[in-house]
This record gives sequence, structure tokens and C-alpha cells, in this order.
Amino acid sequence: MSQSETRKRLLSGMQPTGTGALHLGNLEGALKNWVRLQDQYEMFCCVVDWHALTTRYHETSKIAPACREVAADYIAYGLDPKKCAIFIQSHVKEHAELHLLLSMITPLGWLERVPTFKEKRELMAEKGEGDESVSYGLLGYPCLQTADILVYRANVVPVGKDQAAHLEISREICRRFNYLYGPVFPEPQTLINEEAAVLPGTDGRKMSKSYGNAVYAADSAEKVAETIKGAFTTPTKLRKTDPGVPEGCVVCQWRKVFDPEGYRTSWEEDRSGERGCMQNKKELTELLNSFLEPIRKRRAELLSDPAELDRILVDGAERARATASETLRLVNEALGLR
Ligand code: ADP
Repeated sequence: MSQSETRKRLLSGMQPTGTGALHLGNLEGALKNWVRLQDQYEMFCCVVDWHALTTRYHETSKIAPACREVAADYIAYGLDPKKCAIFIQSHVKEHAELHLLLSMITPLGWLERVPTFKEKRELMAEKGEGDESVSYGLLGYPCLQTADILVYRANVVPVGKDQAAHLEISREICRRFNYLYGPVFPEPQTLINEEAAVLPGTDGRKMSKSYGNAVYAADSAEKVAETIKGAFTTPTKLRKTDPGVPEGCVVCQWRKVFDPEGYRTSWEEDRSGERGCMQNKKELTELLNSFLEPIRKRRAELLSDPAELDRILVDGAERARATASETLRLVNEALGLR
């Protein structure tokens, strides 16, 4: 029996972002863990471009280039295309076929009650977009997410601490399918990354592409310095000698994540007034730039060689399709359609 047959399967994925590159929150909060998991699991790692259409259907031209950037970031950060299948969701049409079949058995009420659907709907209303921009596809987002997972009969899905609930509807859809047609799918389990803290952005909120508060893998050394210059620190620390509160300072929080061995001294000095925010920012800029330098270099290499990246993505999609088409065979058999 080959190793891949004995290992459990894992599915992970991210949406292409508006900006292209991933941010430090994505790298530290998700990818770092994926890189660790690639040796343990048979791993399928996709960039979910169809999901981007649920809200960005009116600006589609940026989606394909952004997908390539996300794939390049996966690899630059340490995912190994030899160990895991790295691919673009829309290159494996079986996701769509399974999505359609699952949409037939998913009760409307389940989808309408999903909190992220309600939030997105409200956000669109706030932006002055009428209910006509809330599409059938947006409502069906959890069905597509479920198809992404089940099409590989994945056993586990890695998620952040705040996202465990996102998988609940997928598990329910999975149970409903198995109840109606027989046990085709293993029920996917969440693999919660307890270690990863939610990384704050420059303004103290969660770092997110939606808030303009992030440092990106593609940022130049100068851009990183500029972003850190603008980051929130202890609001009552106006002078170097004023006591800092590292727990409430974005720069100190980042230091803790990117300098886990050495941050304590800097925190104590910040607290006691021996060091000021300028020094903290200067040192953090150096730390982040040396952390990002190899990632920047590798992603730039990959993006400047489109043929090589294409080869990786075609290969990833082929490997994904091999499993996905077998799943659809089992599914169609269970339904009695074939
Ligand atoms: P964003 O909030 O920028 O839209 P996504 O929701 O697309 O990011 O998240 C993609 C992945 O990155 C998820 O696994 C999520 O848990 C992780 N992630 C996103 N932002 C952060 C953050 N600030 N800290 C830790 N992990 C994060």
C-alpha cells in the first residue's frame, strides 16, 4: 500500500485576495500550519476562485492574476508542490458538479441562517448595494465550500480558532447526503490550530485584506517600514520613558510572533520606559524584512516564470482531479444516476 493510501486526507484553501499577495495574518495564522501538516496528510491545497465570484462578480479581471499570486505565496512560504497538490479550484470541474448535487439536498433555511451570509448581506446593504446584488451563488457559498471538501473525501480541514463554526454546515450537508444515499463521505473534522494567535493589523483590529491594515508578502522593504511607522502603539506612551503596555501595542504583538525567543526583553524594556516606540518599530522593521526577504524573492521568481507556475498548477489539478473524479463516480452511483 502506498503512503498516500494510508494517510488521512486534508483539504485547505484560500480565496484570491483583491490585492494579490497574502498578508502576514494569512501566513502566520494559516499557511504556517499547512506547511507543518503537509508531511502528515495527503494534502489538497487550492485557491478558490469561484468563491471570489460570490461577491466580486462585477470585477472579474483581477481574479485569475490574484490566484497565481496566492499560489506563488503558498509555495514561497513552504508548501511543496511535490508533497501536496496545489491548484486552482475552477481547474477541477468536479467541484462544480458536486456543488450542484449538494445544492439539491441542502435546505434553504440552513443557508439563510449562516451568520457569514447574513453579515455579507448587511455589508452590501450598508454599501448601498440593493438586495439584487445578493446572488444565489452567495447564498450557496457553504454548499460550494462543502463540495470543495467532500470532493476529496477529506478527513480534516485546518481552520483558525474563530472559524470552527464555519465547517458545521458542511458536516450537516455531509451527514444528510450519507443518510439519503449511503455513506460515501467521511465526516470532515476541523483541525483547529490552537497555537496561532489572531494577528492584529496596524490599527489594532484583526489584520485583514478588508481593513487596509496589513503587511503583504509582496511589500517592498520600504513599504514595510512605512506601514510599521503608522502602526498603533501604547496610546499613553508619548515619550520613551513613559511605561508601555506591550499587550495592547501592535508593534509589540508582532514582535512576539516574529521573535518568539527574544521578544521578552524588548517587552520589559518597553514596560519600564527603557525603550521607546521608535526603537521598537525600527527593530520590528528589520525583523519583518529579514523574515519576508526569502518569501519575496521566491514569489517574484515564480511569478516571473509563468510556464513553471503553470506546470505546477496543471500538475496539481491533475492530481486533484484523479481523486475528485473517483468521488463523483461514487456519488453518481449512490444517487443511481449512473
Ligand atoms: P481576510 O480576513 O484578510 O479576508 P481570510 O478570511 O481570507 O482573510 O483568511 C484566510 C486564512 O487566513 C484563514 O485561514 C484565516 O484564519 C487566516 N487569517 C486571516 N487573517 C488572519 C489574522 N489576522 N490572524 C491570523 N490568521 C488570519
